[in-house]
Amino acid sequence: MRGIASLFRLDAEDSELARAQFRSFSKQMPLLYLILICNCVAIMVDFFRPDHLFKTFCSPILMCAMALARALWWRRQDGASFTDAEIATHIRRTCTVAVLMTLAFQSWCMWVYGNGDAYARGHLSFFLALTQVSTVFCLMTMRAAAMRVAATSTLIFVIFFAGVDRGRMLVEAMVLCCVGLGMMVVTYRYNLDFSQLIMSQRDLHNRQVETEKLSEENRRIALTDALSGLPNRRELLSRLDRLEQDPGAAADSLAVVFIDLDGFKDINDAHGHQAGDTLIRSLSVRLRGICPRYATLARVGGDEFAVLIEAPGATAEATLLAQQINEEICLPVLVDRHVLQVGASIGIAGNADGPLRAHELLRRADTAMYHVKMHGKGEIAVYDTAFDQGRLRRMAIEHEIGKGLANNEFEVFYQPVVEAIGGKIVATEALIRWPHRPDGPLDPQQFIDIAEATGQILPLGLFVLERACRNIKPLGDVKLSVNVSPAQFRDPGFERQVAHVLEQTRFPPERLQFEITEGYLLAHPERAVRAIEAFKAMGMSIALDDFGTGFTSIHYLQSYGFSHIKIDKSLLSGLHPGSKSSLLVTGAINLACGLDMRVIAEGVETEEQADLLRAAGCHKLQGYLFGRPMPIADFVAAYRSSNVGQRKAPRRLAG
Ligand code: C2E
Ligand code: CA
Ligand code: CA
Repeated sequence: MRGIASLFRLDAEDSELARAQFRSFSKQMPLLYLILICNCVAIMVDFFRPDHLFKTFCSPILMCAMALARALWWRRQDGASFTDAEIATHIRRTCTVAVLMTLAFQSWCMWVYGNGDAYARGHLSFFLALTQVSTVFCLMTMRAAAMRVAATSTLIFVIFFAGVDRGRMLVEAMVLCCVGLGMMVVTYRYNLDFSQLIMSQRDLHNRQVETEKLSEENRRIALTDALSGLPNRRELLSRLDRLEQDPGAAADSLAVVFIDLDGFKDINDAHGHQAGDTLIRSLSVRLRGICPRYATLARVGGDEFAVLIEAPGATAEATLLAQQINEEICLPVLVDRHVLQVGASIGIAGNADGPLRAHELLRRADTAMYHVKMHGKGEIAVYDTAFDQGRLRRMAIEHEIGKGLANNEFEVFYQPVVEAIGGKIVATEALIRWPHRPDGPLDPQQFIDIAEATGQILPLGLFVLERACRNIKPLGDVKLSVNVSPAQFRDPGFERQVAHVLEQTRFPPERLQFEITEGYLLAHPERAVRAIEAFKAMGMSIALDDFGTGFTSIHYLQSYGFSHIKIDKSLLSGLHPGSKSSLLVTGAINLACGLDMRVIAEGVETEEQADLLRAAGCHKLQGYLFGRPMPIADFVAAYRSSNVGQRKAPRRLAG
């Protein structure tokens, strides 16, 4: 019972369904009223009596006028401008008006029924039934209205026609009763389908909205750097793509500033990636703050940023901005109670000299940055065509190093280190050589820093260590010095690898010394101390290489516990009695002695230098005067003869 009652109930809670219903039936409403008017006029013509003017003319005309007014009103509505509440009100009103109009029409029909002859009555019942059926069909999408109209009109029809004309219309009444029920079933099913259709449309729409939202989010994520929130490399490239599509870029209207942080990897290594991330985030915010409106700042790599400038006089703008950026990046940042500081190598390229593809600008700025990186870092360079040459050469060498390692093109040479007094060979420095390089030998200075930058120094350094341990092991008590790059020190596996080589070659650790330059020590004091302690614990000793070229403070010398310092050869060039160099060298030797360290002087080329160094108290000497770096066979021979015929004065060896 409750189910049947619910069929007649108006349900406008689902505002979207109500709106769809409204949209659908509002289109039918003018048609519905037109049918009503036609039927009304048809009946009026049949039943017109001049003596019953009000009943047979005025009343239907009034009804038609009302219907026409409603029809015109409905025609003007499109539903889109109504709020949900207004739509609910209209639906409710339509439900009532539809029933009232039906009742009014039926009442009038029953009122005039007695005034017509048999034909007219037959027409009337036909038109009445027709009106009823068409009303229900027009209201089909609005179940409650259609059901109410169907039920009331059928009921009244059946009751009235069952009683008139001595039951002659009974059959008609019963047929209409069946038709009414049929219409109600059809209405019910149709409504079910209609609401399901609307719901699935809504689902589809919701899903579409969701998909659009997701794809917009994906697009945003794909073009934004997650860490800094800045546009990423892809976004910058697509911006450059768009610029390339506009061929008419004015001269000097575009420039790219390419920024690479110096020392960022070291911070990551020393303080962890989280500290590195915090630093990048803080830098990104600060850089964004100084970039003008017409500049696009993007993070294009781990520690790389690029700024695209689109403004007249772009190159000058870029240079100015690069200076600001450089100053900003150098400011220290406090991260987890550590004061972190990085530098920046910056390259600039602009289209001042003529039209250039936007991507070419980026490449040029990158090349200029690379040039800075390779020539001391921390500077700003504007692109020059000569940079390309240098870069190509470096890339070629990088490739050749890889092949050279695989093809056994490298060798280790040994340079003697002699006792300052007595001249006996007591040690040797292992120095890498590349004699079998297909394009001719290359000095270590020309490939060591490339190998360092690319990480190839790790296998290269290991090769030198292993080869030198094997070569020098048979030579009695000769000590072996091996150069170690900062990158090797940074490598977490380095200590283990060294231990492994010592074990494999059975080289006594007491005879092995690592030479390290101060660059790494300054960047990573804590890690350097740990590594040095570990090597010392293995029995090895550590020498501070290139002493006198940097800013090593007494504090550093003391805290690391070096066993030796190596005075750099550059300090020996002007070494004459009474010269500034001689004061410097003497001072350095005294300092080292005071700290219980032994001093080696490298690059000794003349007897005069050797005498001065000896007089100053230097312990060991190394240089062309005593022998150039030489192959192992030559070194063995030199060592043997130095041992056998040891002279008072040091002697020159072939090399
Ligand atoms: P370094 O450690 O300062 O090595 C000393 C350099 O001075 C060597 O150059 C040596 O040949 C040169 N030298 C020695 N005596 C004299 C002299 O009396 N006069 C002059 N003018 N030079 C002298 P080399 O072999 O060309 O090596 C250059 C640099 O390459 C080295 O400087 C070192 O930093 C690096 N290096 C060489 N071999 C290796 C290696 O196996 N591993 C690492 N990491 N670096 C290496
Ligand atoms: Ca050295
Ligand atoms: Ca040196």
